[in-house]
Amino acid sequence: MARTLSVLGATGSIGASTLDLIRRNWDDWQVDTLTANCSAQELAALAREFGARHAVVGDEACLAELREALSGSGIEASGGAEALCDAAARPVDMTVAAIVGCAGLAPTMAAVRRGGTIALANKEALVSAGEVMISAVAQHGATLLPTDSEHNAIFQCLAGSDIADVARITLTASGGPLRTWSQERIAAATPEQAVAHPNWSMGAKISVDSATMMNKGLEYIEAHHLFPVGLDRLKIVVHPQSVIHSMVEYRDRSTLAQLGPSDMRVPIASCLAYPARMETPLEPLDLATIGELTFFAPDEDRFPATRIAREAIEAGGAAPATLNAANEVAVEAFLAGHTPFTRITAVVEETLRRYSAPAPRSMEDVLTIDSEARVHARTALETLSLV
Ligand code: NDP
Repeated sequence: MARTLSVLGATGSIGASTLDLIRRNWDDWQVDTLTANCSAQELAALAREFGARHAVVGDEACLAELREALSGSGIEASGGAEALCDAAARPVDMTVAAIVGCAGLAPTMAAVRRGGTIALANKEALVSAGEVMISAVAQHGATLLPTDSEHNAIFQCLAGSDIADVARITLTASGGPLRTWSQERIAAATPEQAVAHPNWSMGAKISVDSATMMNKGLEYIEAHHLFPVGLDRLKIVVHPQSVIHSMVEYRDRSTLAQLGPSDMRVPIASCLAYPARMETPLEPLDLATIGELTFFAPDEDRFPATRIAREAIEAGGAAPATLNAANEVAVEAFLAGHTPFTRITAVVEETLRRYSAPAPRSMEDVLTIDSEARVHARTALETLSLV
């Protein structure tokens, strides 16, 4: 029998990879809900193609366009923040949480509170909510399947093992497109250069996060929540080929690694089929052609984001949500050409210095921290001297 699926963030890069797999396994899935923010035409076309029952735009101003594009299709259209959460709360077998940023938190939590199975790509939601989300998962009997390639790799390497036997988890990082650049060149990096990732094709925000290495910082925090082995057992190594997606070392010094092509359809397929396996259209990994796998320690002088993220999760409380909010504000400003590349991490660090709040105890607390931190980050953007 076909399994039901909702994709939150269907018009994005993860959404496209997910729907590509569904298209190739048409009989196995019934698409219930597809969402976007405002890409109404694209969303309507996908909803029609996949025979979705519901299509939702997060931005209510785009609902009229969505309705018009769906007219005569019988697909129910809705819009706005509440509609997005209602859609995420509808019962389905699998929810792919692929909205970018903390904007995905409330819909993801709606799916969690329904006790659903969630393929979690939206790392910013978990970074911001941390324990609040993890407790809700336990309380409502939900299942989080890590979709981020590194976390999916760790999840696979942990299969059948006792987490108490883990000596170390190593997150691999490609190092991003600016990995070999000098400090001076990095300071002058343009949005076009920062999003030109050598190995992965991704949305603009995560591409910039890869260039600053904040993506790895966010992933470090994400890993801490998903795999509670203790921060001292979480490490990062730069591995430019992106062939090994992460590793788990056990106390007997045996290390398991997960390898695969740099294509998000691999971890997404692992979540969709979990605990079974499914075909993907990808070529087999050809290690002889790849030839060399290399590894380097992160350079936190040129790329301070991993240090800032580590300090934020060590500090705990409101710091991770603050870090994430400030980063979203700064990345948006960088992509719009309003601020230089190196200001992104400077603004994050400055916001963490200027703003503190009690640890969040609910999703509402997290959203309050998120919006207050954004105000401080915008002020920091305006007032921080150029770096
Ligand atoms: P994209 O920018 O490509 O897509 C984002 C999606 O979210 C789009 O559907 C967009 O709709 C929707 N969206 C954006 N803002 C809002 C909002 N305010 N309310 C509701 N929906 C919104 O992002 P990616 O697919 O690259 O990334 C999605 C998530 O997955 C991120 O958290 C990222 O870190 C994570 N991830 C991505 C990977 C990748 O390879 N791309 C790898 C690992 C994790 P619209 O089209 O209308 O703007």
